[in-house]
Amino acid sequence: MATKTVTTRCAIAGGGPAGMMLGFLLARAGVDVLVLEKHADFLRDFRGDTIHPSTLEVMHELGLLDQFLKLPHQKVRELSGMIGDETVTFADLSHLPTRCHFIAFIPQWDFLDFLTDQGKRYSGFKLKMKAEVDDLIWNGDRVVGLKAQLPRGMLEVHADLVVGADGRHSAVRRLAGLEVEDLGAPMDVLWLRLSKRPGDGSQAVGRFQAGRLFVMLDRGDYWQCAYVIPKDGFNQIRCKGLDAFRQDIVALNPALADRVSEIASWDDVKLLTVRVDRLKRWYRPGLLCIGDAAHAMSPVGGVGINLAIQDAVAAANILAEPLREGAVSEALLRKVQERRQWPTRMTQALQIFIQNRVIRNVLSMTTQPRPPFAVMLLKRFPWLRRIPGRLIGMGFRPEHVRLSEVSDS
Ligand SMILES: Cc1cc2nc3c(=O)[nH]c(=O)nc-3n(C[C@H](O)[C@H](O)[C@H](O)COP(=O)(O)OP(=O)(O)OC[C@H]3O[C@@H](n4cnc5c(N)ncnc54)[C@H](O)[C@@H]3O)c2cc1C
Repeated sequence: MATKTVTTRCAIAGGGPAGMMLGFLLARAGVDVLVLEKHADFLRDFRGDTIHPSTLEVMHELGLLDQFLKLPHQKVRELSGMIGDETVTFADLSHLPTRCHFIAFIPQWDFLDFLTDQGKRYSGFKLKMKAEVDDLIWNGDRVVGLKAQLPRGMLEVHADLVVGADGRHSAVRRLAGLEVEDLGAPMDVLWLRLSKRPGDGSQAVGRFQAGRLFVMLDRGDYWQCAYVIPKDGFNQIRCKGLDAFRQDIVALNPALADRVSEIASWDDVKLLTVRVDRLKRWYRPGLLCIGDAAHAMSPVGGVGINLAIQDAVAAANILAEPLREGAVSEALLRKVQERRQWPTRMTQALQIFIQNRVIRNVLSMTTQPRPPFAVMLLKRFPWLRRIPGRLIGMGFRPEHVRLSEVSDS
């Protein structure tokens, strides 16, 4: 098998939200960058679709918002759910100090295709699909590149900086020997699709019932459904049979009785193992991890994409200028971690609180849940919903684009 060798300023492993946004931002700032993605396209199902107001603000700062919002999307301005028989609105996004007062539900593949098209406007931007990173190149204790398997042969990339943006099962962080702190999660998620029918309405709907939690996300002509189960509970559910599973869904939402037969086999139900973890150190000489590779997020609040994007913006702000000249110091890589560590810790702390205090309780209940006191307060005093609205919509320490575009001429 032939080995091809290339040289670039920055090699990014992983073309998810973190890697594609960082690749685009660096190329826009005049830095040569190569993004390596192991899949042939971005068309994988069951990836988060939520583009939050703070990410939309970043798109505005980049002058791309109007174009971006031409992509088919649904706008969600408040988040509500049903606890037992009671409908409660948890979060109101209408008062955020941002241009957009909504979460845009945009299929992730459209978002990533959009970033690819924008990146291609710059000569420094390169994206290699079907390139699976499986090794690092070292010079002493400094990472100076990476190796990737191609369908035919191998690619060796020499780079001043290697970025691990290869998600929560990151090969890069493992190969770099970075220590992972596992924070645990009491649940896994089963994803499935059910068709959308006229008269269904169009909001994201969460339902909390005794022992069950079910979320439906509007994807235009179908619902992407998340059925939250206790950790490692999938086998038990399978043992009860597909029909019992379908009936469980109908019990959660009787309106779905006319379409649960669309779940034809267990192949239509995808298990996603939830992980919450973070690296103690996000970098080593010549290498940095961002996004889920640095901190796998829980699906609670649907904020993982947003955090990945915010990491990319912070990393580009801090590293682009020095990278144009060559290798970046360890001190600058530390600065990226210092900038993003606090928002990550705060978000994970909130997610873990909700996982342990709310989700774990709901999953172990045998009687119908009732809204807890804090949720009743949100019902009684609607202005309080702005607090979760702000935490979900903007997160902690939202980032802003500080880099100017460097023209190619
Ligand atoms: C069940 C579940 C539901 C979720 N729902 C939401 C949601 O609704 N909204 C939300 O904001 N977040 C959600 N999240 C979290 C969100 O998916 C992640 O936080 C976010 O995608 C992280 O982006 P990333 O770019 O860091 O990593 P990823 O999105 O995981 O992207 C990593 C990329 O790297 C590629 N890759 C992996 N290994 C290699 C390799 N060796 N070489 C080359 N390429 C490689 C992968 O193919 C992938 O494209 C959810 C998570 C889970 C578990």
